[in-house]
Amino acid sequence: MLNQAVVDTLKSGFRGQVIESGDVAYETARRVYNAMIDRRPRLIARCADVGDVIAALRFGREHDLRVAVRGGGHNAGGLGVVDDGLVIDLSRIRYTRVDPAARTARVGGGAIWGDVDHATHAFGMATPSGIISTTGVGGLTLGGGLGHLTRKCSLAIDNLLGADMVLADGRFVTVGPQEHPDLFWAIRGGGGNFGIVTSFVFRLHPISTVTAGPTLWELDQAPDVMRWYREFITTAPDDINGFFAFLTVPPVPIFPEPLHRKKMCGVVWCYTGPAERFEETFKPVRHFKTPALELVGPMPHPVLQSLFDGLYPPGHQWYWRADFVKELSDQAIAEHVKYGAALPTMQSTMHLYPINGAAGRVGKHDTPWAYRDATWAAVMVGVDPDPANKDRITRWAKEYWEAVHPYSEPGAYVNFMMDEGEDRVKATYRDNYARLAAIKKTYDPTNVFRVNQNIRPSN
Ligand SMILES: Cc1cc2nc3c(=O)[nH]c(=O)nc-3n(C[C@H](O)[C@H](O)[C@H](O)COP(=O)(O)OP(=O)(O)OC[C@H]3O[C@@H](n4cnc5c(N)ncnc54)[C@H](O)[C@@H]3O)c2cc1C
Repeated sequence: MLNQAVVDTLKSGFRGQVIESGDVAYETARRVYNAMIDRRPRLIARCADVGDVIAALRFGREHDLRVAVRGGGHNAGGLGVVDDGLVIDLSRIRYTRVDPAARTARVGGGAIWGDVDHATHAFGMATPSGIISTTGVGGLTLGGGLGHLTRKCSLAIDNLLGADMVLADGRFVTVGPQEHPDLFWAIRGGGGNFGIVTSFVFRLHPISTVTAGPTLWELDQAPDVMRWYREFITTAPDDINGFFAFLTVPPVPIFPEPLHRKKMCGVVWCYTGPAERFEETFKPVRHFKTPALELVGPMPHPVLQSLFDGLYPPGHQWYWRADFVKELSDQAIAEHVKYGAALPTMQSTMHLYPINGAAGRVGKHDTPWAYRDATWAAVMVGVDPDPANKDRITRWAKEYWEAVHPYSEPGAYVNFMMDEGEDRVKATYRDNYARLAAIKKTYDPTNVFRVNQNIRPSN
């Protein structure tokens, strides 16, 4: 029975904060990035250190509470929060320690990517992450981690060198190629299924200034742009990354006023090669078709990483669907153009993230991330600040996905999935699923960590 006296036993030895319904901090603490998620946990244990994580997890198990682990709280399906259960909130475990000689960074399990970019940039280095600086390191990394540096440096998991973890039974372990290699394999794509990661160690790359930004074309040119893009990005050098997007131009001064609120298509580039080779690498982009707007130029890597933060602040309604894509057929392009022209709100978008280049050269059994043979991770994202538009953005994303799914793979990037059921999770991990389920049985046989894209312990 979880009465006040019992809760007080957790509070008494806790260095962080134990937040209950009725506390001043509760309403803020239960909120996640996606305002469509409205869950009311019984307790939120905002941990200050690993000792708190161990204590909170033990408490959750003793009192049979459903446990959710919160990193950055960005998961669109709301996997960082749970109704009536215990949230183990890592947001205070937020540090980055760079070792410039070893070219590594140790990062706290509750850090966000902006923390990491800030710390590593001071040393002229970077590690692959995503495209928004407020996303959590925890969830993004454990699910894979794709972004501007994917073609050059591969996924975040491919740059993960080790981690500290608290396991379901409360044990603390360090994992890496030599220590618990099975667990180290599983956390590189298997999500939060295997334990609570209290720190990550990443490989750093000498990336400081990048040449980046969008080129935009008129919507009626989208079929040509997509056909050109599918050729370019599958043959371009790894030094250049570019994700395709349907978007509405935000009404902000950086964009010329005649383009404001206009639906367009574009590619957001990130070039990381030698500065003197940029013009030559980028020449095919400029020669294909004069864009309506080109805003590509040199910028510090952290600036690129936070370019979209203002457009996507926390607290908006989000609904998204996704798929892996091997080939972008003309029929698929026709469907994309139809739904891209019907973006339901200003912030709604569709992105095609390339996962070829360096990411495509990693073996499909080297990590659980099984779709190394896919070319893109596609995501249709309905976004709007107004809850009244919730159904509209959801309907658009679902209908769009249904139209293009026949041209896509059965699985999707786990970090772009909503709650889509066990079969979809299995389809995503393909023949790595059985190994993941066996490792899950070893380390979490009773499925304590199940608020995630769940891998059930195998029988
Ligand atoms: C605006 C936006 C932009 C995004 N852009 C990208 C992108 O560019 N590239 C990309 O790859 N993804 C991107 N994502 C998806 C993102 O990777 C996922 O939403 C991811 O789950 C977020 O991680 P988080 O720690 O913030 O989430 P949370 O909601 O806190 O957690 C998500 C899941 O991860 C688990 N988890 C988190 N931290 C830990 C930990 N330390 N130990 C154990 N389990 C943990 C949680 O239990 C939960 O199951 C984006 C999401 C949003 C909302």
